[in-house]
Amino acid sequence: LEADYHAEVLVLGSGPGGYTAAFRSADLGKKVVLVERYSTLGGVCLNVGCIPSKALLHTAKVITDAEDAAHHGVTFGEAKIDLDGVRKFKEGVVGKLTKGLASLAKARKVTVVTGKAQFTGARTLEVETSEGKKVVSFENCIIAAGSQSARIPGFPYDDPRLLDSTTALDLKDVPKRLLIIGGGIIGLEMATVYDALGSKVTVVEFMDRLIPAADPDIVKPLARRIEKRYEKILLNTKVAKLEAVANGLRATFESAKGGEAAPAPEIYDRVLLAVGRRPNGKAIAADKAGVNVDERGWIPVDNQMRTNVPHIYAIGDIVGEPMLAHKASHEGKLAAEVIAGMTHHVWEARTIPSVAYTDPEVAWMGLQEPEAKAKGIEYEKAMIPWAASGRAIGMAREEGATKILYEKGTRRILGAAIVGINAGELIAETVLALEMGADAEDIGLTIHAHPTLSETVYFNAEMVEGTITDLM
Ligand code: FAD
Repeated sequence: LEADYHAEVLVLGSGPGGYTAAFRSADLGKKVVLVERYSTLGGVCLNVGCIPSKALLHTAKVITDAEDAAHHGVTFGEAKIDLDGVRKFKEGVVGKLTKGLASLAKARKVTVVTGKAQFTGARTLEVETSEGKKVVSFENCIIAAGSQSARIPGFPYDDPRLLDSTTALDLKDVPKRLLIIGGGIIGLEMATVYDALGSKVTVVEFMDRLIPAADPDIVKPLARRIEKRYEKILLNTKVAKLEAVANGLRATFESAKGGEAAPAPEIYDRVLLAVGRRPNGKAIAADKAGVNVDERGWIPVDNQMRTNVPHIYAIGDIVGEPMLAHKASHEGKLAAEVIAGMTHHVWEARTIPSVAYTDPEVAWMGLQEPEAKAKGIEYEKAMIPWAASGRAIGMAREEGATKILYEKGTRRILGAAIVGINAGELIAETVLALEMGADAEDIGLTIHAHPTLSETVYFNAEMVEGTITDLM
C-alpha cells in the first residue's frame, strides 16, 4: 500500500505535548507530520481547557474584585453581564493562540493532516480526512492523544443540562442553581466562574476535603472564602443517582463513608461533572502497532518516553499523572530530542508544579507535608501568613499563606505550598530553587522587591533560618 504521506516523525495529537514535540522535531531537522482530528491545533489545553478557562476566570476576577472594592470605599453597582460579550472575549483569546500555532506549524514546514487516526501497523497510521482515508507511514511516532472527561456510569448523558468541562466552558447560559460534582482543580475553577457570573453553586466532593491532592493547610483559606459565597460544599459525599426531571436534574446524595446520613435529594438547573479525566489510549488501535496500553487506557513509557515498541513514544496526559499541560510539553520536547539522538542529556524534572486558578489561587510543588509525614521524611518548615505581608494587606487579600518544607539540617528546599492571589506565579521561584538545590540561606540572601507577595517566600526562608526581622 502506497502511503499518502511519509514522516520521519509522526505526531498523533496536537495538544501541548504534540505540538511541542512536532515543533522541536522540525527544529531538529526532521520531516514531521502532525495528525489532529479537530480543525484547530492546540488540543484540550488551548481549545477547551487551560486557556478558555483562564479567560473566563479573568472575567470572574474582574467581577469579584469590583464587588470586593465596595469594602474599601468604591462601589461600581451590580455587574451587567452580556454573555455574548464574555464568550466573544474567550473565543478571541483561544483564536489568537490557535492561529498562532497554525502559523508556527507552517513556518516549520510541519505537515498537518486533519482527521481521526488509527494505527494500522507498526509503521502506518490511517487518517479519516474530509477527503477520504489517508495513509501516513512513519519511521518514528510520538503518541500525544491526550485524555477526555471521565464519566460516572448511569448518568443521563444525552441531557444537555448535564455538563462536562467543555460544555461548561461554552457558557450557553448562567444557571440559577449549579451542582458541581468533583471538588478538584477543574470543578473549583468552573465554580469560580459560575459563582462570579451569578449562579448559586453547590460543590460535592467524595473525599473529606477540597483539592485532595494539595496540602490541607493551603486549601483552608480557599475553602473559607468559597464557603461564604457558595450555596453549599458537601464533603465526604457522592452523587449516587442523577435523574432528568421536568425542571432540572435531580441529584440523590449518599455518604461516601456509607451508612451515615446524607443530604436530601435536590433539583439543580445544571450539573457539571468534573471527576477527573481518562486517557485516550484505547481509542487509537495501539494494538495494531504492538503498543501496550493498560486496562485504564494509559500507555506505559520509560524515562525517555519510549513505549514497548522502540520507535514509538508517548507523552502527555496519555502516559500518566499529573495531567498538566506543562508536563505534556516538557515530555514532548524530551521525546523529540531522544528521537534526534540527543539521549545524552535526558534530564528528569525534580518537580512539576500544580496550580488551581481559583480565587484565591492554590499552588504547590515538590514534597508536601502530608506525604513527608506518611513517608517519615524528616523536614523543617515555616508558614508565613499573608497577614504579615504589606502587599497582601494593601490589596485586602491577607488570607493567603506561603508554606515551605526544607530538608532537615541542610535546609534545602524540598517543597512549597502557596495559597493567595497570584500563588500560581509565586510558586515559580520555589520550583527554580528546588531545581537548583537552593537552601533557605540562598533565598534569604536574595533581595526581593518590597512590597511584593514574593517577599513571603523570602520571609519564609528567613523565618526558618531564625533571621527574620523585616516582616511587612
Ligand atoms: P491533549 O491536549 O488532550 O491533546 C490531545 C489531542 O489529540 C487532542 O487535540 C485530540 O483531538 C487529539 N486526538 C486524540 N485522539 C485522536 C485520534 N484518534 N486522531 C486524531 N487526533 C486525536 N493543565 C494545565 O497545566 N493548566 C491548566 O490551567 C489546565 N486547565 C485545564 C482546564 C480544563 C477545563 C481541562 C479539561 C484541562 C485543563 N488542563 C490544564 C489539563 C491540560 O489541558 C492537559 O494536561 C493537556 O491538554 C494535555 O496535553 P496533551 O498534549 O497530552 O493532550
